[in-house]
Amino acid sequence: MNLVEKVRQQAFEQPEKTAYHFLGKGTSYGELEQTISRFAGALKDLGVQKGDHIGLLLGNTPHFIISLYASMRIGAVAIPINPIYTADEISYIIKNGDVKVVIALDMLLPLVEAGVQGFPQVTNYIVCETTPDIGEKYAALSDTVKVKTKLFTQVLAGATRSVDPVEVAPDDTAIILYTSGTTGHPKGAMLTHNNLYSNARDIGDYLKMTHEDRVIATLPVFHVFALTVVVNAPLTRGATILLAPRFSPGEIFELAVTHKATVFAGVPTMFNFLYQFEGGDVSALSTLRVAISGGSSLPVSLLHNFENKFNVRISEGYGLSEASPVTCFNPIDRDRKPGSIGQAIINVENKVVDETGQEVAIGEVGELIVRGPNVMKGYYKMPEETAVTIRDGWLYTGDLARKDEEDYFFIVDRKKDLIIVGGFNVYPREVEEVLYSHSGIVEAAVVGFPDPNFGEAVHAYVVLKDPSLTVENIQEYCAQHIVKYKVPTVIEIIDELPKNTTGKILRRSLKEAMKA
Ligand code: AMP
Repeated sequence: MNLVEKVRQQAFEQPEKTAYHFLGKGTSYGELEQTISRFAGALKDLGVQKGDHIGLLLGNTPHFIISLYASMRIGAVAIPINPIYTADEISYIIKNGDVKVVIALDMLLPLVEAGVQGFPQVTNYIVCETTPDIGEKYAALSDTVKVKTKLFTQVLAGATRSVDPVEVAPDDTAIILYTSGTTGHPKGAMLTHNNLYSNARDIGDYLKMTHEDRVIATLPVFHVFALTVVVNAPLTRGATILLAPRFSPGEIFELAVTHKATVFAGVPTMFNFLYQFEGGDVSALSTLRVAISGGSSLPVSLLHNFENKFNVRISEGYGLSEASPVTCFNPIDRDRKPGSIGQAIINVENKVVDETGQEVAIGEVGELIVRGPNVMKGYYKMPEETAVTIRDGWLYTGDLARKDEEDYFFIVDRKKDLIIVGGFNVYPREVEEVLYSHSGIVEAAVVGFPDPNFGEAVHAYVVLKDPSLTVENIQEYCAQHIVKYKVPTVIEIIDELPKNTTGKILRRSLKEAMKA
């Protein structure tokens, strides 16, 4: 079984059922399947072969679902790319990822024009219409650009055939996901058909997702969290996706009420925005049976505040691109532990090990490693990096964690974010938890900075709710909860924390700003 076959099966069993809602319009599984197979035919007409790479520079619109599934249907490899990356970042991925066809949002038309000159290996560009004046802009393109560029609707209308799914092996690459990486250029994690299918199936089981679910998809779909949890899992279950083109608290509440949403998935900053939103009707989320947090650690105080306000239970999970992504989750119907990423999901093993790869004792901190059908094949064209990351079949996550007696895992922090103050370990997350628990603080991030006396010092960046709060007040508050060497020596009050498009707070940008 794979994703394409599973969605095809849904279209066969419940053709009238709504697969997704987008901007007030529903599309059934039957229609979706037809569009996917026609678009797959059109890609073949453009000369796309099994194994060719297709870059998807798309946001949360149906184009993404259609393009991804059409690409997998013909055995091509999709490379989802964040459409708001800079031209340099996009260019790196297109070249490194050997992209042959680019499917892009219309707002990227200038990039497409430049690409026609800059990327000779790209044979075709398909531009997805989302803005009213795109027809005029397209008409004004030069003939050289037009030879290689077509509008999405043109391509679909010109499709001469529908195609059945080609046969793929379970470990054929289905997508390549470029992950932020810690240093240097991003690396392309190759996820196979089986990686994607097994994780969608296993997380679907864990969340008890059924065709009755209506799942809000506001996380950016090019990111693996959204891809598996709010796109692939719902589609394979015959559920309905509520596709939100962007994250805005007011719109999310409205979407939830209109469609009686049952599942919401977000990163902690989204939960924070929903919680802080002034106009938020507390009953707006009352139809949710589960809210899922992942992508970075959910401060415990935020979990409680959110749950108390909206009366919705949050289950936190954990994953990474290289694991398609989910490895751990808090149970939705049994005990869940605030601050924990939960237990290993079915079929996936999780272990905490020391520097030599030996499992550490319960309660001790070590690196989290994982093994299972969801673990990537390797990094594209980077055998050395692959060999460092996957050893003896285990994926080394680079995250520090501990496990308790009941097999619940707790992420302590990123290995590389650990701060060492005069020989003592300070995990930024622990300090951030304290800052978040202060009612006058909206957001916080903690980073280490070189210090002549102690090697490193703890610096905090905070966004205030209460403008009268001073640095001294915050330091005093911290000192009541944590040992002195963990109390930030420098606290900067800023208007907003830097975040990536997924909403994850970028500690690295803060460090760079601090250095500058
Ligand atoms: P990405 O590959 O972009 O999905 O990022 C994966 C990384 O996000 C992991 O290696 C973790 O550092 C972080 N992460 C994901 N989920 C959590 C979580 N629940 N708690 C803490 N960190 C998380």
